[in-house]
Amino acid sequence: MTATGRSGSAPARTTMSGKSIVESQFERAANLIGLDQYMRRILMRPFREVQVEVPVRMDDGRIEVFTGYRIQHNGARGPCKGGIRYHPEADHDEVLGLAAIMTWKTALMDIPFGGAKGGVTVDPKKLSKLELERLTRRFTQRISIVLGPYRDIPAPDVNTNAQVMAWILDEFSSRHGYTPAAVTGKPVSLGGTLGREEATGRGVMYVMMEYARDFGIPLKGSRVVIQGFGNVGGHLARLLHAEAGAKVIAVSDVSGGVVNEKGLDVPALLAHTAAGKPVVEWPGGGGRAIANTEIWTIPCDWLVPAALGGVITRETNARTIDCKVVVEGANEPTTPIADLILEERGIPVIPDFLANAGGVTVSYYEWSQNLQQYRWTHEQVNRELHATITKAYVGVRDLAKQRGVTFRTAAYAIALQRVAEAERLRGN
Ligand code: NAD
Repeated sequence: MTATGRSGSAPARTTMSGKSIVESQFERAANLIGLDQYMRRILMRPFREVQVEVPVRMDDGRIEVFTGYRIQHNGARGPCKGGIRYHPEADHDEVLGLAAIMTWKTALMDIPFGGAKGGVTVDPKKLSKLELERLTRRFTQRISIVLGPYRDIPAPDVNTNAQVMAWILDEFSSRHGYTPAAVTGKPVSLGGTLGREEATGRGVMYVMMEYARDFGIPLKGSRVVIQGFGNVGGHLARLLHAEAGAKVIAVSDVSGGVVNEKGLDVPALLAHTAAGKPVVEWPGGGGRAIANTEIWTIPCDWLVPAALGGVITRETNARTIDCKVVVEGANEPTTPIADLILEERGIPVIPDFLANAGGVTVSYYEWSQNLQQYRWTHEQVNRELHATITKAYVGVRDLAKQRGVTFRTAAYAIALQRVAEAERLRGN
């Protein structure tokens, strides 16, 4: 890398981009509700895109320049809301697709936000903690003009966490005065909410519980396979094991996975990964190590992709996956063609912006608490999350049944209707 070179150029993609995945799914739902052409154009395209170059002083004195994005897809229903990810493959298309999903997610949950997403094309594992902090502060400086508690509120996503949010808060507040509501997913001691860290995994579990009851696949004792053992996958595994009595039989992370037909000892595995060790090196409980791709071959009741996008594809696993339900813990894990294949095979998919909406929902509670300077208990957070996500689930289930469409199309239709109504009421 030269002193002025750009870092982290994305490798060539082998799957459809995030943007094209979202576009084709959007059209199906827009046709279902007969959405006007002009409104399709407003809702399909982003409200505002910001791309910045982010120079960072590295520990050895060189300067590296990273490319960052903040894309505000739609703010008709409230301030834009969405995470920031640090990843070598984070690029414009991916961030745009994820920003759009946030618009549909906040609308489907009926919380007063629009949708946005941010990303920096970087491999954070190659940065020291100080380099990561400098990158975060510089990126925040460069996009802070479009941020704010009533404008656009970032949160954690892949490879960012509460500490990164604390740096964003500090940087933003140094210019605008102490503004805890400017960012969510903060540490609790800096105005974060109880229950935010586990919220996405908890929301996935609540949706699974509802689906289990409706479609006769009792969670207790059922076999669950999870790809990804980070924030979403890790908490989901813990909660399914501890609160739902499910058998988590296989999990994986970037380095590989472990499988045990009798059910993994999830607390022991979590203790192992909490010590910084990869899942695949876990020696415990009579399980066996598997390579990353093997996770898709294990017969199960519930298959939960909870790592990255574009992992269920026509070319790889859509025809061979052996489960009763796919639950999208990750954003955009299923390509549209794979989605159709699963539909043909009679494997239902609970879509990302329903299944993983617990995070942004509890972010909404965090924002509300910050604005009111009032603290909720953990029980209150969980209770409200359960009520909000269950209500959204029921709406999707009922519309899917009524119109004979997939959960994804029904969820999109509800979300599109709400955002379109807000646009119209604002005069568009
Ligand atoms: P994370 O960085 O905490 O964890 C990601 C996990 O995926 C890690 O265990 C990592 O090792 C694993 N992984 C990465 N590449 C992999 C690969 N090729 N094969 C197998 N495992 C791999 O991220 P997260 O916050 O848990 O997010 C996971 C997904 O959930 C993302 O799609 C994200 O957009 C989505 N999501 C997250 C939240 C949230 O609140 N964190 C909310 C909604 C959606």
